[in-house]
Amino acid sequence: MTTLPQVESVIDIEEQYQVATYKKFPFAIERGEDVWVFTNTGDRYLDLYGGHAVVSTGHSHPKIVKAIADQASRLIFYSNLVYNDARARAAKALVEIAPAELTKTFFVNSGTEANENALKIARKLTGREKVISFEGGFHGRTPGSLAATGIEKYRDGISPLLEGHVYAPFGDAASVEAMLDERTAAVILEPIQSMGGVRMAEPSFYQALREMVDNVGAMLIYDEVQTGMGRTGEWFFAGRCGVVPDMVTLAKGIASGVPMGAVLMSEHIAGEIRSGDLGATFGGGPLAAAALEATVEVIRDERLLENVRENSEYLLGELKKLPAVEEVRGLGYLIGIRFKGGDAKRYQKGLLDRKIITGLADDVSVLRLLPPLTLRRLEIDWFLGQLAQLGI
Ligand code: PLP
Repeated sequence: MTTLPQVESVIDIEEQYQVATYKKFPFAIERGEDVWVFTNTGDRYLDLYGGHAVVSTGHSHPKIVKAIADQASRLIFYSNLVYNDARARAAKALVEIAPAELTKTFFVNSGTEANENALKIARKLTGREKVISFEGGFHGRTPGSLAATGIEKYRDGISPLLEGHVYAPFGDAASVEAMLDERTAAVILEPIQSMGGVRMAEPSFYQALREMVDNVGAMLIYDEVQTGMGRTGEWFFAGRCGVVPDMVTLAKGIASGVPMGAVLMSEHIAGEIRSGDLGATFGGGPLAAAALEATVEVIRDERLLENVRENSEYLLGELKKLPAVEEVRGLGYLIGIRFKGGDAKRYQKGLLDRKIITGLADDVSVLRLLPPLTLRRLEIDWFLGQLAQLGI
């Protein structure tokens, strides 16, 4: 491995050789431990962004590290042409934590790939092409997911995308009803719109969707790339409000940072998929599979769902009391703080100066917190203290 001599050189080299498509913080992280990350200049940051909702079990959790290292020393990869013990255990572990109606998984590598596959399955099995999604929803950067994304700026300059996509206002069941017909293949939604500013709908909305989608013989897809794997304090949003969708798409935190995605689906749907209909070379590779299984074990063994429920209730309650805060939205460790006067970026910068990493949203007044599920009361109190010192 080549060592990079100077602090600047890491930044300079990335700038020189990578396409400049990401706005980056002006430091280089070289190590992480639980909810903390460390820069190559020796600074320590509290990571309330979780590497964009990915680091579910905290940075480099020893059990995840061990599972990956053990698997790597045995077999890093073989394709889906063969059976494999790590893949078998991962599939079983994932299906066992899902609502009982979702009995099968198809493994992929990212969130957008999971959504592409779910939409493809819906279109293929229904023989229909119309897809209803929601204004403010984000589903990924490849054409199918992008066509379903209800935030215009991501679709700008690349029309026409796929045909048949329409967008309803989030939370408005009557609008969906007006759009739904016998040409509709699927309704896809983030049950909590994260990028859109952490927006959640009333329980009756999800229930109405389930009923209306059934009435026209379409499929209901939850994009749980952010809400899945414990972030809301339950394994999945699916099952909440008595609603289980036909498919759930997953990625981000499911393997603690090793790239992996999945589509969970009902027995009925899986039963109609024919050999060769779907495929992904890396999907369910042994290394990622081992990380997924270990992620499920850590969340279960360390009672992280309970941790999220308990501590998020406290955190949300304390945030609501702050004078600069207009509204606090979200569930579990998917939190949106809406500031009076709008400018969340200014608060993000203030927090960054105090060595706390947070995220923005497409709603410029909202600051997002997507911390590891391991975030505890001690660190929350430290964060609240920093907010107080900032006059928030
Ligand atoms: N769906 C949601 C809800 C997301 O937040 C994202 C990414 O931020 C995606 C899909 C796309 O995931 P990926 O970047 O892994 O393709």
